[in-house]
Amino acid sequence: MRSCRDLLQSNDPEVFETLAGEENRQRLGVELIPSENYTYPEVLAVLGSVFTNKYSEGYPGRRYYGGQEFTDRVENLARERACEVFKCEHANVQPLSGSPMNQAVYLGLLEPGDTILAMDLSHGGHLTHGAPVSHMGRLFNFVRYKTDASEGAIDAGEVRALAREHKPKLVLCGYTSYPRDLDYAAFKAVADEVGAFTMCDASHYAGLVAGGVMRNPFDYGFDVVTTTSHKSLRGPRGGMVLCRKDLAARIDKSVFPGLQGGPHMNVIAGIAITMGKALAPEFRDYARQVLLNAKAFAAALMADGAQLVTGGTDNHMLVMNTSKSFGLDGKVAEELLDEVGITTNKQIVPDDPNPPLRPSGIRIGTPAATTRGMKESEMERLAGWIVDVLRHPDDAGRRVAIRREVEEMCGRFPVPGLE
Ligand SMILES: *Cc1c(COP(=O)(O)O)cnc(C)c1O
Repeated sequence: MRSCRDLLQSNDPEVFETLAGEENRQRLGVELIPSENYTYPEVLAVLGSVFTNKYSEGYPGRRYYGGQEFTDRVENLARERACEVFKCEHANVQPLSGSPMNQAVYLGLLEPGDTILAMDLSHGGHLTHGAPVSHMGRLFNFVRYKTDASEGAIDAGEVRALAREHKPKLVLCGYTSYPRDLDYAAFKAVADEVGAFTMCDASHYAGLVAGGVMRNPFDYGFDVVTTTSHKSLRGPRGGMVLCRKDLAARIDKSVFPGLQGGPHMNVIAGIAITMGKALAPEFRDYARQVLLNAKAFAAALMADGAQLVTGGTDNHMLVMNTSKSFGLDGKVAEELLDEVGITTNKQIVPDDPNPPLRPSGIRIGTPAATTRGMKESEMERLAGWIVDVLRHPDDAGRRVAIRREVEEMCGRFPVPGLE
C-alpha cells in the first residue's frame, strides 16, 4: 500500500510542495520562538488518523452521536492523565485551541461586563487577556497590571491596589512574554481579599510545571489553570481547562454547548499521548534541560553585552531589548536572524516606545531546540551567532557564513518525526 505522503505527492503536487518546503525549513533552521516545539512522532501519526473522521459532540458517556466506544476511551485517557500531570480534579480537553479555552472560562464563570484583572499586553500578557481588539476585550471590563519600571518584574503592590480599587470577579495571571515564575500565593491572597476567582493561563510554560521545574498554581489553591497543549508540552495544537471538581460542570457546559460544537478527536487522542509522555521520568529531564538551556543562553548573551528584560530568566524564554543592545528594532533583528536560519520573534518590551509591528525587542525560547537534543554548548554557540549578526547588520557575507554553520549544527540534531 502506498503511504499517505506518496498519495499526496502524486495527487496534489501543489500542496505537497508546500509541505516538503516546510519540512526542509524546520530541518535546516533553529526554532527559537518560545511558543513553538516539535511534537512527538506518535502525535503526528494520530493527528493524521481516522479519529479525524468522527463527530463526538458531548462528553464521554453523554454524546449526541453513536459509535463512541473508542472516542470515549481516548478522551477519558486524556482527561485522567491531564489530572495526574497537573495534580488537579478535573480536565476539559476539548477547547479547539488556546483562545477558545480562555473564552470558555470567562464566559463560564462570569457575566458580560464583569471585571477581570489581568496582565497588560505590552508588559507580557496575552491577546486573549483582554486586548482591546479582541471580542473578549469588548465583552468584559479588563483592568491591567504592569511590570515594575526598573526591574521589569510584576509589581505585586500594584496588583493588590488595582484589585482593591476595581473589585474584579476574576484575577488572572500567566503570560506570553515574561521570563520569570509567578508568586501564586500573592495572587491568591489578593483574589481572596476581594472574593474573586483565581485563574492562571500557563500556556507558555505548562511543560515546565508538568516537569516539576516551575511552580504549580494548584499547589497555591488556584481555581482554574488553562494551557495550550502545543507549546512547552510538545503536544498537538489544542487547549485544556483544568479546575476543581466544584467548577467542572460550569466549565464543561461553557466549552460545549456554550462555545463549541464537535471536539477534534484526533487532537484529543494526541493530548492523551502527550499527557502520557509528560508522566514519564524522561519528561522531567526534558523540562530541566529546557530551563538549563535558557539560563545558559541568557548568561552567554549578557556576557556579550545584550540587555535582557528582568536581567535573566527563570523559565524557557528570554526577552532581549535589541534597541538598547544593538540599536536595532525587533523587526529588523528578527529579519536578520531569519536570514541565518535562526527563527525568533519580534516582541514589545515593557513601556515600549515603539509600535507592536516595530517593537524594541525579540523573544528567544528553548523548548524546540531542547527537543532536538541541543544542550548548553549549542545555546552558547547560538548566542554568539545572534550577537555577531546583530552587531554587523550591514555584513551580508558574515550572514552567509553563519547560515552555513547553523545548517551544519542542525544536521547533527534531527527533528523528531522527520528523520
Ligand atoms: C499561545 C497562548 C494562548 C492562545 O493560544 P492559541 O492556540 O494561539 O489560540 C493563550 N494564552 C497564552 C498565555 C498563550 O501563550
